[in-house]
Amino acid sequence: MNIETIGVVGAGTMGSGIAQAAAVAGLDVVMIDVSEAALGKGSAAVRASLARLVSNGKLDAAAQDAALGRIATSTDYARLASADIVIEAATENVELKGRILGQIEAAARTDAIIATNTSSISITALAAPLADPSRFVGMHFFNPVPMMPLVEIIRGLQTSDRTAAAVRTLTERIDKSPIGVRNSPGFVVNRILVPMINEAFFVLHEGVASAAEIDEGMKLGANHPIGPLALADLIGLDVCLSVMDVFVKDFGDPKYRACSLLRELVAAGRLGRKSGRGVYDYTV
Ligand code: NAD
Repeated sequence: MNIETIGVVGAGTMGSGIAQAAAVAGLDVVMIDVSEAALGKGSAAVRASLARLVSNGKLDAAAQDAALGRIATSTDYARLASADIVIEAATENVELKGRILGQIEAAARTDAIIATNTSSISITALAAPLADPSRFVGMHFFNPVPMMPLVEIIRGLQTSDRTAAAVRTLTERIDKSPIGVRNSPGFVVNRILVPMINEAFFVLHEGVASAAEIDEGMKLGANHPIGPLALADLIGLDVCLSVMDVFVKDFGDPKYRACSLLRELVAAGRLGRKSGRGVYDYTV
């Protein structure tokens, strides 16, 4: 299947990044959101990110203009009729995503692929209400999309070989590297990464070492580019906690229990960089 036009639903952090990566690769993009204000914010994020790439010498001005010219925006789902694939990248809420997927199904061509960028919701469960769930697949991009090379391609129980093959080809075309994943809580990367971060909170809580020493240890001893506690501050402590809580519930295995220190920091509103303070203080 040849993909030339891509619909992106949700113009936030991830949707605008996906739209940008696709436009830079030469695809036509239709980006949908609920309001002109949200679309304006998404377009401004794309413009700022492209400008940074130009000033770093990673993109020339002509390619920047061409990419911007390929992104159309609208609040009207009917504009998705021209898309070969629609990627849903709206707010992480299961009821909302269910409604949006119904709207995409009604607007898109019957042979168009429908993908979701969800971080935590079951691909199999999201596919189930669709008339043709075989055309549904997970495409899990990483933040910031223009910089991060990985896309996890998640097959639900119903996803067809044709759908999985088409999104693999698309991923490579937009200069990303795909890995194939079977639907399972946290997929691959968050399943391994977030419990490691949680373990760093246990190590801190038990007084084994200071936060700075734990992070230094993992950087110098495990060759990680950033320590796990600094990474938790970047991701958001509330996000890390909710991922661990999903693992306990979905796997029914207490080995995923969140560290009480992580829970305590979230309760105190110390969510990381976004709130000014998490493990570390960003206000000083
Ligand atoms: P965000 O809050 O930045 O953006 C969400 C956008 O969805 C907003 O612009 C909002 O207006 C829009 N939206 C809400 N309802 C809509 C509707 N009915 N129709 C169209 N648009 C609607 O969120 P985000 O961080 O970009 O996350 C989007 C998705 O990507 C989520 O499923 C999230 O779990 C996933 N994800 C996020 C990250 C990350 O690091 N932020 C990484 C991987 C995956």
